[in-house]
Amino acid sequence: MVQPNFCSADNETIVENNGLLKVKGNRIVNQYGNPISLAGNSLFWSNDGWGGERYYSSRVVSWLKIDWNTSIIRAAMGVEDPGGYLSNRATNQERVKIIVESAIDLGIYVIIDWHSHHAEDYTDEAIIFFQEMATTYGHSKNVIYEIYNEPLDVSWSETVKPYALKVISAVRSIDPDNLIIVGSPEWSQRVDLVAEDPITSFENIAYSLHFYTVHHQKWLRDRASIALKKGIALFVTEWGSIGYQTVDAETDLWMSWCANNMISHCNWAVNDKTEEWSILVPAASTSGHWTDDELTKSGQLAKNIIKNWNK
Ligand code: MG
Repeated sequence: MVQPNFCSADNETIVENNGLLKVKGNRIVNQYGNPISLAGNSLFWSNDGWGGERYYSSRVVSWLKIDWNTSIIRAAMGVEDPGGYLSNRATNQERVKIIVESAIDLGIYVIIDWHSHHAEDYTDEAIIFFQEMATTYGHSKNVIYEIYNEPLDVSWSETVKPYALKVISAVRSIDPDNLIIVGSPEWSQRVDLVAEDPITSFENIAYSLHFYTVHHQKWLRDRASIALKKGIALFVTEWGSIGYQTVDAETDLWMSWCANNMISHCNWAVNDKTEEWSILVPAASTSGHWTDDELTKSGQLAKNIIKNWNK
């Protein structure tokens, strides 16, 4: 049996093996042009005092890589809500940097997520933030920018897309090549609207698709399949199982769909808050080394999927 994630001087990391990710047609591909599907975790909102920020540590990222075989981690930087970037830039940005630098050290991919529901209201702030990130990390093959977590019930063509074009243009003036992921209306579910009017003036743009199995089933997979057929590339930057149980038939259907379409995914969320999607039980260690007893049922389910994902 192959030891997942066994790492020695002879074993290259997933980023060394696959290099900079690119969009090719409706697929994310590695440096050789081969489709790649990654599996990993999203951290919870980074906001001061919300609880999830306690897990923004290198030891957590390291443990997820070693014990879960996580190949991608998402830093979900809260923006406009209390305790977020707009009220405390230094603390939130520092948390993101800890995660990015840990991922680079460990050789896994990392998503820098502008975790906002109203990003079009703070376009200037997003540009400043992402230009700083691009300046600091744009040379790194590990880094992916996610410039709008979940737009609400707003227009794709009139609101989200114009915002995205401004931020992408600002990033591309510094970093010409790293992957950029864009959300879509209705909590990043309206990939059908994106497919009708995709961003064509920049390369290496993918679109997020979020699913929570309690809410989103075959109808969303069918919508996403049509969007793929129309030629856009998708990236599941958040997903959640039905929660509180280690078996979820709908999760199995979704994971088969991701595997068949070579789509990467990050499980929501590394946190100990009492809610169905947290992977950790309350007061679980903030430095990893979790026993199975410290994982929730949905955490155990997610671990089983991520650890055995080998696409
Ligand atoms: Mg670059």
